[in-house]
Amino acid sequence: MIEVKHLTKHYGRQKALDDVSFSLKEGDVLGFLGPNGAGKSTTMNIITGYISSDSGEVLINGVDILDDPTAAKKNIGYLPEQPPLYNDMTVEKYLAFMFELKKVRQPKKEHIRKICEMVGIADVSGRIIKHLSKGYRQRVGLAQALLGDPPVIILDEPTVGLDPAQIIEIRNLIRELGEKHTVILSSHVLSEIEAVCDKIIIINHGCIAAQGTTEELVGSGKGTRTLRLVAEGREQTLFSVLRNVDNVTAVHKKGEAEKGCYEFTVESSKDVRRAVSRAVTKADCSILMLQPQGMSLEETYLDIISGKEN
Ligand code: ADP
Ligand code: MG
Repeated sequence: MIEVKHLTKHYGRQKALDDVSFSLKEGDVLGFLGPNGAGKSTTMNIITGYISSDSGEVLINGVDILDDPTAAKKNIGYLPEQPPLYNDMTVEKYLAFMFELKKVRQPKKEHIRKICEMVGIADVSGRIIKHLSKGYRQRVGLAQALLGDPPVIILDEPTVGLDPAQIIEIRNLIRELGEKHTVILSSHVLSEIEAVCDKIIIINHGCIAAQGTTEELVGSGKGTRTLRLVAEGREQTLFSVLRNVDNVTAVHKKGEAEKGCYEFTVESSKDVRRAVSRAVTKADCSILMLQPQGMSLEETYLDIISGKEN
């Protein structure tokens, strides 16, 4: 559906993107996550044909955005970081204007009405855009992106500047869109991406630092995993059994949890739950509790953007 290959972009002498490649299947909801200045908007502007890259290519449904920009752009609805709104127009007039500009073929009135209902702006369609709240203006921007029913929707930080209630509304809308569209959504807020997306790309300093599903990203974290464990047996026996399990990097004694039962935390570089369980049983001891204190996506993200991963 979308293939991005080896994008590189400089602004003057500053490198904004460095060999960015990824691909997206129909129906994917991809979150583009990274701190400010990471290169999210630059990537989105290149994918949508707003700016060109120094090298690399973007294929939308097999069509190179540079070979046939009109055909490629028909497939994409874009809500840039600064929505291209004409503040003195009414919502209705603005959408009719954008409809013409995009040369949309659908029956005009009906199509615009349907979109206004979908994004919840039907009741303000006669109002002048500059008099609307930020949340409503963002929905108008979203309506503009949906004109012509493009199969791909690209949204650059769509919830920036909105209040918590508006954020939830926009998120729900994006989720709904994700059922029938391929969506790329950028954000510097992790919880936002986690709440809406099924795939995540973490971008930092113009490079892709990690990509995968939430589970994959957390699982692939090279950071330490920690297990909390309570077992019955002699404390010293348990301690040495745990120390000797493969991939265990540290064991900490936490003291007696109940009579004859000791608590430990076990740090390891891999998932060692099964090995720990077998080793403890083999030593004639019993596990009473085994609880992974796995890395959260938050920790993985912070590790990546602070450079600890590399
Ligand atoms: P993000 O959207 O992730 O915050 P951007 O893609 O906007 O990041 O920016 C990536 C880098 O490129 C940043 O260092 C930014 O300062 C720089 N940059 C972006 N747009 C321009 C521009 N028009 N001219 C010069 N530098 C730019
Ligand atoms: Mg940006």
